[in-house]
Amino acid sequence: MPLHIATPLIQSAILSARNGRDIWLKMEALQPPGSFKIRGVGAACEAYAARGAQKLLTSSGGNAGLAVAYAGQQLGLPVTVVVPETTTERAIRLLRDYDATVMVHGPGWHEANQKALSLIDEQTAFIHPFDDPLLWQGHASMIDEVAQQGLRPDAVVVAVGGGGLLSGVAEGMQRQGWDSVPLIAVETVGAASFHAAVEAGERVTLPAISSVATSLGARQVCQQAFQWAQTRPVISRVVSDKAALQACEQFLSDQRVLVEPACGAALALAYEQSAVLDSYRKVLFIVCGGATAGIDQIRQWLDKA
Ligand SMILES: *Cc1c(COP(=O)(O)O)cnc(C)c1O
Repeated sequence: MPLHIATPLIQSAILSARNGRDIWLKMEALQPPGSFKIRGVGAACEAYAARGAQKLLTSSGGNAGLAVAYAGQQLGLPVTVVVPETTTERAIRLLRDYDATVMVHGPGWHEANQKALSLIDEQTAFIHPFDDPLLWQGHASMIDEVAQQGLRPDAVVVAVGGGGLLSGVAEGMQRQGWDSVPLIAVETVGAASFHAAVEAGERVTLPAISSVATSLGARQVCQQAFQWAQTRPVISRVVSDKAALQACEQFLSDQRVLVEPACGAALALAYEQSAVLDSYRKVLFIVCGGATAGIDQIRQWLDKA
C-alpha cells in the first residue's frame, strides 16, 4: 500500500465556462498531509526503509517536512525535522502533530540544512524536498492516475519550486506517451528560479526569495527540471503574488478547498484566463495543495499585495 491516496480528477464547471475550454483539476490538495509531496516523499521513505533506514531526517519546515513526518508516523519510524528560526508556529505545530521531533536551528534554511546534514548516520535516511529520483518516480504516479481516470489533456499546468513536481509530472507524461503535450510551468515573481534558468539557458541561483509563495522558494532548480525544459515542450510563466493569492481566495469559494499561494500561482492562469491556454481544448491543472498557510494569513498577505 502506498502512503499517498488516489485523488479525484474533476472538471471545474466554473473555470471551464470562464475559459471556454475544459479545465480539469487533479486534487492533490486532498492528500493526507495536504499536498502532492507525499507521493514522492512516501515512495522515497518506503524505499529507504526497505534498505534498512531506521530514522528519517529532513530540513523542510514546509510541505515536504509534513510529508516526511506523516510518512514516518505511518511507517513507524522516528522523524527529525531541522527548521530555521523563521519557521512559523503553525508549521512547527503541524509537524509535531505528526509526532516529528522539531529542531530549530539557524537564521535560514541553509543553516538548518547544514545542521540536518551533520546529523546523518548509518541508520538515518535524509529526505531531500525536490532533488531525488525516488521522489520524481513517486510524483509521476499522479499522471498514471490521470490516465487511468480517462483523461489525455492537451496541456498540463504545474507550479515550480525546486522542480521536483515538474520532474515527476514530466516523467509520468513520458511514461504515458504524452511527450508532445506541453507542460506549463508557473512561478511567482520573486521565486522564479526556473524562469531565470530557462531565460539564461543554464541554471542560475537567485540572490534571494521575495514571494509569499514560500513553497516555491528554491533559489535554484534541480538539474533534472532544467533538463526537461531542454528535451520536451515546457512553457514558463510568472504570475504576481497578488494573482496567486486571489486565485487561492477564488478557489476556496468555488471549490471549497484551501490551497497555498504556491498552488494559487498555477490556478492563477485559469482565473486570469491567460492567453497561454488559448490553443488547448483540455487543460489539466495539478492542484498541488499545501497546508502551511491558513486563510487568515492569505487574507493578510492579500491586504498588502
Ligand atoms: C513543494 C511544493 C511545490 C513545488 O514543488 P517542487 O518540487 O519544489 O517544484 C508547489 N506547491 C506546493 C504546495 C508545494 O508544497
